[in-house]
Amino acid sequence: MLPAIPAGVDLAFSKEDEKFRRSLRTWLRKHLPKRHDEIDGGEDLNFEGPAQIAAAKKWQRTMHDAGYVAIDWPKEHGGKAASAVRQTILAEEIVTHRAPGLIGQLGLHMLGPTLIRCGTAAQRKRFLPKILTAEEIWCQGYSEPGSGSDLASLRTKAESDGDDFVVNGQKIWTTTAHFADWMFCLVRTHADAPKHKGISYILIDMKTPGIEVRPLVQMTGQSGFNEVFFTDVRVPRSNLVGELHGGWAVANTTLAHERNMLANPMRTQQLMADLVRLAARRNDNGGKVSRDALVRQRLADLQIRVDMMKYHSWKQLSDEIHGRPASVGGAISKLVTTELNHEICATALDLLGDYGPLVGRSPHAEDRGLWPRDWMFTLGMVIGGGTSQIQKNIIAERVLGLPRGA
Ligand SMILES: Cc1cc2nc3c(=O)[nH]c(=O)nc-3n(C[C@H](O)[C@H](O)[C@H](O)COP(=O)(O)OP(=O)(O)OC[C@H]3O[C@@H](n4cnc5c(N)ncnc54)[C@H](O)[C@@H]3O)c2cc1C
Repeated sequence: MLPAIPAGVDLAFSKEDEKFRRSLRTWLRKHLPKRHDEIDGGEDLNFEGPAQIAAAKKWQRTMHDAGYVAIDWPKEHGGKAASAVRQTILAEEIVTHRAPGLIGQLGLHMLGPTLIRCGTAAQRKRFLPKILTAEEIWCQGYSEPGSGSDLASLRTKAESDGDDFVVNGQKIWTTTAHFADWMFCLVRTHADAPKHKGISYILIDMKTPGIEVRPLVQMTGQSGFNEVFFTDVRVPRSNLVGELHGGWAVANTTLAHERNMLANPMRTQQLMADLVRLAARRNDNGGKVSRDALVRQRLADLQIRVDMMKYHSWKQLSDEIHGRPASVGGAISKLVTTELNHEICATALDLLGDYGPLVGRSPHAEDRGLWPRDWMFTLGMVIGGGTSQIQKNIIAERVLGLPRGA
């Protein structure tokens, strides 16, 4: 039997929250840059050259000055201690107004919350203010060749030498490393301990001698991520976050925040709305594609799943408001929204037929010319931040209670 809907459930926003939304909308309409493409690196943080990077930093600074950056952070660290509802409203309006993404999002959504929870007072004082203002941009040094899903097998080593660590090894797929100022990085500090117990979490200044960054070209043709090589790189011991050899717990704090960052149900709703608009306008073989029964079924099926993720995000919101443990909601969101985004883009390419693969050059105004790029990028997001198979393993163990996989 289905559980009864509890009495008194109210999904409406309070008057104060609606006031917050109105003033945010007014602010966005007034301050949104005229040419987004001059600022926005897109979801893959693919900024083209110093001018675009400088413009993107200025946009984050403008948002910060107005009080719209890291509103979830505690007040003593420069945030607003905003409720989960306000955070949702902010995310909704950012997507609805198609505001440029923030260049410093790895610092804002991954390292910042990690330092607030696991860092020292000195580390918080040194690093948090410049994360907020985009004066310092961060990258994430987790993955290595052969250590992606099995992250704990990583081999980049850091040996103690006086007041420093000396780092040698290689990271890969490091988004923004080509212009980042700092990296939060996992290193092996104890070679003989069980693999999860010999890892430490350190902060590396990307200007330190011995670091070489080599850009990788993605299938979109752009270079958003890199290989990073370390040769005798000296890192002060004061840049250790958490316990020596205790970096796995710190790494997981960051990963939980990363999953939430990548699973943005508002972005999925926006993509779906664009797809429906495309289907409504597009003609094929002398008629509207939206009259085709198979197209209609496919769109309806997608819309149902988009709505399910919206309600799932509300459930997570409600858990947060009522202080219920987070469980595996983040893994479910990451899995379903990233796969859904890719399927929405694949459907758009099918509707566009022969014109589908023409990146940015399609003669059809309605297709935005971005679908092929979005299709390629959304495939990357199914992999980045933990692949779908890994999320399914988590759900199998923690929701279904199945034994650990081999
Ligand atoms: C766009 C993008 C940006 C990224 N940015 C960063 C970044 O900034 N910093 C960073 O550190 N990393 C980054 N990554 C790397 C990302 O975290 C890894 O690609 C991801 O964790 C998968 O690791 P892998 O590529 O080594 O694949 P592998 O782990 O080798 O996996 C290969 C295949 O095997 C499957 N598989 C592996 N283990 C299991 C298992 N136990 N059960 C079932 N199936 C399994 C996987 O699902 C996958 O299909 C990025 C990746 C992408 C695509």
